[in-house]
Amino acid sequence: MEISPDIFENTQSAFAAKSDTALQKAKALFSVVGNNLFVRAGSSLAMLALKLHLPVSPVFKWTVYDHFCGGETFEECKLTIEALQKAGVGVLLNYGVELKESEADFDKALKKNTEAIEFAGVNRAVTAVCLKPTGFARMALLEKVQKEEKLSAAEQKEWHRVQQRFEELCQVADRKNVMLYLDAEETWIQDALDNMVEELMSRFNREKCVVCNTLQMYRWDRIAYLNEQIKKAKAGGYYLGLKLVRGAYMEIERERAAEMNYKSPIHENKQKVDADFDKAVEVCLDHHEWVYTCVASQNEYSNLRAMREMLQRKIDPKTEKVVFSQLYGMGDNVTFNQAQAGFNATKYLPYGPVKEVIPYLIRRAQENTSVAGQTGRELALINKEIKRRKKQKRK
Ligand SMILES: Cc1cc2nc3c(=O)[nH]c(=O)nc-3n(C[C@H](O)[C@H](O)[C@H](O)COP(=O)(O)OP(=O)(O)OC[C@H]3O[C@@H](n4cnc5c(N)ncnc54)[C@H](O)[C@@H]3O)c2cc1C
Repeated sequence: MEISPDIFENTQSAFAAKSDTALQKAKALFSVVGNNLFVRAGSSLAMLALKLHLPVSPVFKWTVYDHFCGGETFEECKLTIEALQKAGVGVLLNYGVELKESEADFDKALKKNTEAIEFAGVNRAVTAVCLKPTGFARMALLEKVQKEEKLSAAEQKEWHRVQQRFEELCQVADRKNVMLYLDAEETWIQDALDNMVEELMSRFNREKCVVCNTLQMYRWDRIAYLNEQIKKAKAGGYYLGLKLVRGAYMEIERERAAEMNYKSPIHENKQKVDADFDKAVEVCLDHHEWVYTCVASQNEYSNLRAMREMLQRKIDPKTEKVVFSQLYGMGDNVTFNQAQAGFNATKYLPYGPVKEVIPYLIRRAQENTSVAGQTGRELALINKEIKRRKKQKRK
């Protein structure tokens, strides 16, 4: 099997599920999101509205929310999931609520995610559930654990409850045969999370892969960490589950490092990040026997390369051990063409109350606005498909 270098240029399959109106709407959205000033002002206004408990505009739901999210409830997500399933695309479900700080919120996240795992257990199009660790623990507590500072008696209990929440989620996932991915976050809490996931993997990933960690390849220390993790998994006799991403917090990481005068944990340029991302994919595929890999990226070159590397190593494109994933609302040309070529393509699909998902949506808008963002590429593909449809109608 050969993969054509222009596989991701096929806009007909990329946008097959989108009506002409939906395409025009996406075009308008990406045109606005490409405007730096608008996104900055819009993000501040949205955060202010959230703080003041103001109602969210229905226009916001109809545009930004609908484009990047599955719905407010499982019922609302079902239509989206079915449409993806029809195109051979699976779903990584994510309860998109972020930036919470109270025990009540963390327990609510536990309940919501348990329901999501149960939903995935009976809805096989949902291949995994993604968890944002700070939805279950206070950032300040995680920071203290990472620094190995002495915890007060109350904090020790709090940390125990955090670990219990993840333990419970792994138990449900194990019973329901659903995989869990823990998202990666900021470096000043990530070691604490890494240690916790490593310990969970060593217990739950013996017969199959239940729980996976995420590696941010914009960090210059991650290839060494990956090699060390593979060694430990082999020696310990458990599967290593890894989602590979480039990383979403580059600006805050660099700002904090400069402010606090320590070496930035982020590579100095994108070329180095790209090289490490592709290298990490190769290392995981080389140890395919022990490693479950999720190639999580919209980057066309990295996706094409990973698909070819799989074929070169004679790894079945449909193996459950290698999954590709793009964020819902982005990189459709990658996802749908990958599925058509017979690979395990998925969408990372956030859901949840409109107001609560705002921080996630702001991150997506900012990602698209940044110089390295992909608005231009998304717009070009949409325009190409609009043109193609017009031409076809004229025939
Ligand atoms: C399924 C899925 C799950 C994800 N889960 C997580 C997660 O758990 N944690 C997380 O942090 N992110 C996560 N992300 C987001 C991800 O980290 C990227 O921000 C996003 O996917 C864009 O990267 P890319 O590989 O798709 O594309 P590209 O456009 O090729 O890369 C953009 C990325 O390159 C890096 N970059 C850009 N410019 C520079 C520069 N000058 N110097 C150094 N690096 C640079 C940044 O990481 C930037 O986000 C996820 C993404 C996907 C698709």
